[in-house]
Amino acid sequence: MGRLIAIVGRPNVGKSTLFNRLTKTRAAIVNDTSGTTRDRQYGKTEWNGMEMSVVDTGGWVVNSDDIFEGEINKQVQLAIDEADVILFMVDIKGGVTDLDEMVASILRRSNKPVIVVTNKDDNNEGIYAEAEFYSLGLGQPYSISAINGTGTGDLLDEVVRKM
Ligand code: GDP
Ligand code: MG
Repeated sequence: MGRLIAIVGRPNVGKSTLFNRLTKTRAAIVNDTSGTTRDRQYGKTEWNGMEMSVVDTGGWVVNSDDIFEGEINKQVQLAIDEADVILFMVDIKGGVTDLDEMVASILRRSNKPVIVVTNKDDNNEGIYAEAEFYSLGLGQPYSISAINGTGTGDLLDEVVRKM
């Protein structure tokens, strides 16, 4: 498959929105209801002449936190196994949640390059919240707005550096 970027994170942080932006498709279903991405979606993107594949992870079942945790675990493990660079997406507005901490602890134990992506920074105020997400122990967060595209160029520059 070549170079692969995996987008992981708890439901509703904006993974599918970023996937759609990177791959310029509507293949990944974006919805206000958690759990709408039924399966892993693969697409292609290109940045500065580098072709890369992207996988949007999902398959969430929304009935209970236990199922959530098991499912997220599985998706993060798959990402660690198959991806070259992992985008760990969080919601800058919500602060660090227990599920974010769980994902971070799995990723910290892997040897894969991880970029923390603080999404929903629509008004470029991310700098004020990034410190909290820096505490996840996975490096300096990159703030973006998957909806309006702010910050995605800098993020892709970093992805290419880590490939
Ligand atoms: P996923 O569950 O992580 O795949 O999240 P989705 O991509 O389905 O997005 C969940 C919700 O967050 C949707 O209502 C999106 O429109 C919204 N969303 C995604 N990215 C952004 C963003 O950059 N800013 C804002 N304000 N909302 C966003
Ligand atoms: Mg999704």
